[in-house]
Amino acid sequence: MEYFQKDIETISRDKLLALQETRLITSLKAAANTPFYAKKYADSGVSTGDITTIDAFRKLPFTTKDDLRLSYPNGMCAIPDEDIVRMHASSGTTGKPTVIFHSAHDIDVWTDLVARSLFMAGMRKRDVFQNMMTYGLFTGGLGLHYGAERLGMMVIPASSGNTKRQIDLMTDFHTTAMHITPSYALHFAEEVVAHGFDPKDLGLKFAVMGAEPYSLATAKKIEAAFGVQVFNCYGLSEMNGPAVAFECPVKNGMHIWEDSYFVEIINPETLKPANPGEKGELVLTTINRTAMPIIRYRTKDLTMLYEETCACGRTHKRIERILGRTDDMLIISGVNVFPSQIEHVLMEIPEVGNNYQIVLTREGHLDKMLVKVELYEKIFKGDLSQLHTIQKKIEHELKSALLISPRVKLTEPGEIPPSTGKAKRVDDQRGSF
Ligand code: AMP
Ligand code: ZN
Repeated sequence: MEYFQKDIETISRDKLLALQETRLITSLKAAANTPFYAKKYADSGVSTGDITTIDAFRKLPFTTKDDLRLSYPNGMCAIPDEDIVRMHASSGTTGKPTVIFHSAHDIDVWTDLVARSLFMAGMRKRDVFQNMMTYGLFTGGLGLHYGAERLGMMVIPASSGNTKRQIDLMTDFHTTAMHITPSYALHFAEEVVAHGFDPKDLGLKFAVMGAEPYSLATAKKIEAAFGVQVFNCYGLSEMNGPAVAFECPVKNGMHIWEDSYFVEIINPETLKPANPGEKGELVLTTINRTAMPIIRYRTKDLTMLYEETCACGRTHKRIERILGRTDDMLIISGVNVFPSQIEHVLMEIPEVGNNYQIVLTREGHLDKMLVKVELYEKIFKGDLSQLHTIQKKIEHELKSALLISPRVKLTEPGEIPPSTGKAKRVDDQRGSF
């Protein structure tokens, strides 16, 4: 087994815990000196000087996305302005962007985490890496870019969209790895065919996919379409960005890099630690970042933690693919529904194409869910009774998985606007009560 940073990737749990404790305390001290945390801890009567162990640390108040907004623009900065070398901002899927600052040290550490992750997936310096994520404030562009370069690959900074150019770059420069959102990957697969190519002939070996939730069925679909191996890449701008956690070839969850992040899973209602193996909200603390230490950040992402040693030899714990966000959970007539559950059902149905949209409306006091589902063109052009059967089948499958009865509208390819970045899957027209 080859590793990019063997000592740290395979470090013993005892040593890792000791390293975490030291880094945690350093990070907390730095945070406590920022205007935001100084006030937060004073308000809640916490004296951070008393916190010298991980157990004591677990009692500190959480940090939320709202806190980041409140401390805008730089209330959480722990270093002088002149030592900041970069800023990023979250893509704003769930509201106004939040800004994150980095020192040269922070960028260096993050770059290593990305390089380590890509190497773990099997990429080597001879590979050609086409970064099809949006460049700019969004971390998926530059974050992966520098990590892939550090590994020694040639990076094609293609950014997202412009499918024909993407295909040309791939064929002319022999791309072997692409970094792409799952929703764009599904669209891209179709577009490649529409341009007269078999996606398998592009010669790709790896697809790094992240930035939004997707099911295992979607990963398999992309693997089959392009003849690649898909690797799930998780991250959020508040914690640098991509490669907070990344799948290894064993593909039994994503290794979460514990030399940079302290990991907790809590019950999002009681805010108490979840039991081992129980689903809950991921809470992360930066423990190797100087410009903007963030303590006990509630990611709102739901997952589970696997603590057993992985067959790949890495000792860092693993998280399950993201099962949804506590805040994208839809409540439909009192029933909790995650868009990822709907995707899972749809992607298991062979006639279903690559795009779908959930529309929520209210009739009287009753919530109504309409799921628009794209079919493959040849099926859509088929006979009406077949379409009716497919519609009923999808409605039935959704009902048994969700415990509510959505209506299904079949659409032809292209009718739902395709996505080149993060997909907006839910159109909630219900308004608030
Ligand atoms: P941003 O900070 O704008 O990059 O958004 C980060 C959010 O995107 C995370 O909190 C997750 O909800 C989502 N996300 C990122 N990567 C993944 C992934 N691999 N699987 C599921 N959701 C993801
Ligand atoms: Zn592993």
